[in-house]
Amino acid sequence: QTGRTEELISLTERSTAHNYHPLPVVITEGEGAWVRDVEGRRYLDCLAAYSAVNFGHRHPDIVDAVRTQLDRVTLTSRAFHHDLLGPFAQELGELAGKELVLPMNTGAEAVETAIKVARKWGYEVKGVPEDRATILVADGNFHGRTVSIVSFSTDPVARTHFGPFTPGFTVVPYGDPTALADAIDHTTVAVLIEPIQGEAGVVVPPAGYLSQVRQLCDARELLFIADEIQSGLGRTGATFACEHEDVVPDLYLLGKALGGGVVPVSAVVGDSSVLGVIHPGEHGSTFGGNPLACAAGRAVVAMLRTGEWQRRATELGEHLLSRLRPLVGAGLLAVRGRGLWAGIDIDPALMTGRQASEALLAEGVLAKDTHGSTIRLAPPLVVTPEEIDLAVGALSRVLANA
Ligand code: PLP
Repeated sequence: QTGRTEELISLTERSTAHNYHPLPVVITEGEGAWVRDVEGRRYLDCLAAYSAVNFGHRHPDIVDAVRTQLDRVTLTSRAFHHDLLGPFAQELGELAGKELVLPMNTGAEAVETAIKVARKWGYEVKGVPEDRATILVADGNFHGRTVSIVSFSTDPVARTHFGPFTPGFTVVPYGDPTALADAIDHTTVAVLIEPIQGEAGVVVPPAGYLSQVRQLCDARELLFIADEIQSGLGRTGATFACEHEDVVPDLYLLGKALGGGVVPVSAVVGDSSVLGVIHPGEHGSTFGGNPLACAAGRAVVAMLRTGEWQRRATELGEHLLSRLRPLVGAGLLAVRGRGLWAGIDIDPALMTGRQASEALLAEGVLAKDTHGSTIRLAPPLVVTPEEIDLAVGALSRVLANA
């Protein structure tokens, strides 16, 4: 680190709450799969803002759409109609094969929205006794940071000293359909899971799990809520990770890449039989569905309609995994993944995930540890096979020098 970097980090540390522990790099520009820091050094971005930058930094289609909209109107609130919400919702609905979209801004808001929708659906459609609705969730989950969401987190760091918590959630082991079935009772309204757990370290459930969840939800009249905020929109080689098991959930929760890494955009997408339980005044957000968000979202949906990005994620992902697998036994304990999304477990005897991320940074590769010794690799889908080789080459050097 030199002067400017140190100065800016120290200013940030002095002036912001310490709810993050970023790597010591100060980014000032980004394009495609690359970013540049204030010292002029270039880094290959292998995190892509937790998959919010799936299409690369400042993808021209997204930037152009947002720039054009900046010259028209940026915010109307939902007190009035504007001319992009209808088209955006229709196009996103079509992409997802669903009738309705409820737009919000952040991932956590989409999750909160789905919890409210599922409870209301439970009381009004299923006939669950008032104030008794329960939602089944999985251990190791990550759905965001609000009080209700951390109420069913199994990560002590996310929960400690944030109680009292919101009741109405039952945690079951991830990937275990029998445990899920056993937990269902007359109060259960929904199952809320990530089809692949991102923050947990790209944990892919056993084959057949998602379709068993779907069958259980059908048999017991429950909503299947798929949190595709990190797994969705191209990352896994499909528009939705649920597609890998030909499963269609009742509600898709989308966020991150939906705004193209330009503006925060999230949404709950489902049919009117479910989302229709929400009426005027019962839920909303000042910025949800704003014109800029819709402009970005429409550009993203248009890009995903061709299937090109999904194919690219599949091909690049095979390349990435084929390069990573030989490192198992040579510093890595395990490699998992789907599409261009890999979780690697570094041998904790060698170093922590944090140390590995810092060493990768020194090699010009941006990646971030998730838990302990696990690192997630999720470069923007514009990355090339040669750039993937560069990242894996850096990782092998880091492991070899440990
Ligand atoms: N759900 C999943 C699966 C996520 O990965 C995340 C963020 O990492 C969220 C929800 C929360 O999204 P946000 O940080 O935009 O609130």
